[in-house]
Parts: sequence; C-alpha cells; structure tokens
Amino acid sequence: MEIKNKSKNNKNNDKNSKFSCFLKKISTFFEKYLFPEDIKCIFCGKDISHFYEQPYCNSCKKFLHFNNSHRCKICDEPIQNEATICDNCQRNKRNFQKIYCPLIYEGILRSSLISYKNDNKRYLAKGYAKIIYDYIGENFKHFDFITFVPITKERLKERSFNQSKQIALKLGELTNLPVIDCLEKIKETRPQKKLNYKERSENVKGSFRLIKKDEIKNKNCLLVDDIITTCATVDECSKILKQQVRNVYVTAVARNKIKIN
Ligand SMILES: [Zn+2]
Ligand SMILES: [Zn+2]
Repeated sequence: MEIKNKSKNNKNNDKNSKFSCFLKKISTFFEKYLFPEDIKCIFCGKDISHFYEQPYCNSCKKFLHFNNSHRCKICDEPIQNEATICDNCQRNKRNFQKIYCPLIYEGILRSSLISYKNDNKRYLAKGYAKIIYDYIGENFKHFDFITFVPITKERLKERSFNQSKQIALKLGELTNLPVIDCLEKIKETRPQKKLNYKERSENVKGSFRLIKKDEIKNKNCLLVDDIITTCATVDECSKILKQQVRNVYVTAVARNKIKIN
C-alpha cells in the first residue's frame, strides 16, 4: 500500500514538475514576445534568466567598472588620497546633498550609454534603473519623489526621448515613488564636452526653470541624470529645485572619470 502510494506520489510529482516546466516555457515565450528586452543582457544582448536580479550577464560583469573604491562623500567621485571630500566639493558649495553613481563611465558601459542616446535604445533604461536601484538600496527612504534633468523641446524632437526621464520613470516603477516632471530647460546650452570646469557652470546658468511648485514644496527629491562629469548641470538643476524642495539628492548611471580643470 505504502509502496503504491509512493509511486502515486512520484507520478504526481512528475506531473507537477512537467506542468511547471510547461508553464515556465509558456511564460518565457510570452516574455520573449511581449518584453524581449527583459530577458537579454543590456550590454551584449545575450539571453539571461536573471534579468530582474542582475540585468547583465556574468561575462559582461567582468568588464564593468563599479564605483566602489574610496570616493567623495558628496559627489561620489573616486578619490586617490585619504580625503573624504574631493577638491571640487571643498572648493564649491553644492546645492545637492549627495550623488549616487553605481558605475564608472568607460568600456562597455560607455558604448551602451552612447548607443542608448544616439540609437534610440530606450528599452535599456529598465536595466540602468535596476543598477541604480540596487546601488541606492535603503537610502530610497530619504526621497519623496523622483525628477529628472530635462532637455529642450528642440532636442526632444531630434532625439525622440529624454534619456534621463526614461530612467527616472523606470526607477519610479521599481520604488513606487512618484515621478514629477517639474523642471524645464529653457535655453539650449553649448556641448559641455569642450568646456572646462568654470565654463561648464557658466554655460548651464539660467537654462532651467521650475514648472511645478505646490506639488514639490518642502519635499525631498531624487534628481536623475544619465552621466555625471563635473556636476555643473545637476548642481544648477538642484539650485532651481531648491526654490521649493527641501533637499535634492542626485543619481546617474555613470560617473565620468575624465579630469577637467
Ligand atoms: Zn552580456
Ligand atoms: Zn566631491
């Protein structure tokens, strides 16, 4: 009798595992069909089974440079000496509380971010948001809402999407925090690339304005950008946000190491 029951149980277990295997195959099929990007490494496009834990494959992980060495407490820039605050943050009073950047802008991440912007690969935003989400972790409790660095209407027409807004929206989905479109870029600026530190700050001055006030009054916000180099853009945005909000925290996918004087 016992033996019979056992074999019956085994048969049931077999049936169950076959059934769950079948369900898994169906769900993978639909995932592939409906959300093809959700099962692919955001860097090489290889199929992965763990997108929601780590949106890239283990081979690509080896080529990523995580921003986890000794770094500035305020702007998250890697520091070579023992100081806790970098020279730039010591010299310039920041309008934000702190920056969070999980990765260094180089190698496969650099190519990925360039392609995200230039080739309209907006689906990559979900993976970038997941990387930021894991890096900030518990500190999300300090924020009441998420906002993003805006681009001008003309640039939006050219590019068809705002790269920072897309990441902010995905972060909103992961955290359940509201994403509020409260800044507007009112003036096109020269490309920051060719400018030095001082010129970058001057270049962005007066190029943003607040378009929402009551909704954000006295709240703490997380401002999202894609890459941070000198902090000039996010600092100017923070200055404008602080006309209403209490504290501004900043995040971006990558910290650019290039030294600018
Ligand atoms: Zn990969
Ligand atoms: Zn710093």
